[in-house]
Amino acid sequence: MAVVEIVQVGDPVLRRLARAITVEELASQAIQELIVHMRDTMRHAPGVGLAAPQIGVSLQLVVIEDPSEFHKGFTPEQLAARERTPVDYHVLVNPRLTFEGDELVEQFEGCLSFASFNMIVPRRRKVRVDALDEHGRPFTRSAVGWYARILQHEVDHLHGVVCCDRMDPRTLATPENYTRFFGGKTIAEAKAIAGEKPRD
Ligand code: ZN
Repeated sequence: MAVVEIVQVGDPVLRRLARAITVEELASQAIQELIVHMRDTMRHAPGVGLAAPQIGVSLQLVVIEDPSEFHKGFTPEQLAARERTPVDYHVLVNPRLTFEGDELVEQFEGCLSFASFNMIVPRRRKVRVDALDEHGRPFTRSAVGWYARILQHEVDHLHGVVCCDRMDPRTLATPENYTRFFGGKTIAEAKAIAGEKPRD
C-alpha cells in the first residue's frame, strides 16, 4: 500500500487553483502512480474522497469511494437523511460540476485536511459531473445527496476552497466532540445545541 502524508489546512497548496491534466500526461507512469497513491491514502485514512492538492500535488485529480462497510455505523434513518448509498471507487480527472436545481441541504461533513473536524456545510442536493477517467475517457455522472456532497467537497479542493470556507462556523467540532454532542442528532437539533450567534 502506498500511503502518503495528507496536507493540513494552512498549507498554501490547499489554496491554489489546481492545474488541469493533459491526456498525454495522464498516460504517464508518474500520474498513474499518483492515482494509486491517492487511492491507497484515501482507503488508509479512511475517507470517501481525496483530491491531489491534499497530498501536496496541485493537479485536477480526485478519487472517490464510499463502500457499504462505511455505512455500518449509521441507522437506516441516518443514511436516508443523508441520502447516502454506496459509491464504487472511481477517478475524476479535470472534473467540472454543474448544479442541478437550487435545492440546498445541510449536513455535517469532515475533511482529512482539517484534522477530521466536523462542521455543518450547506451543499447542493443534486449535481452533474463531467470528467475524464484514469484512462482519459470522458464520462458524465449525476449525483444526489451524499455523493453530490462528496463531489462538491472534492472539486472545491481543486479550486483552493476548503469546507471551513462554507461551514456554519458555530457547528465546528473536533471528532470527539462531534460524537459527544452532535452524534445521532438531526441537523435542526445540532444547530439548536450550537445556538445562535450572540449579538455584537
Ligand atoms: Zn477535504
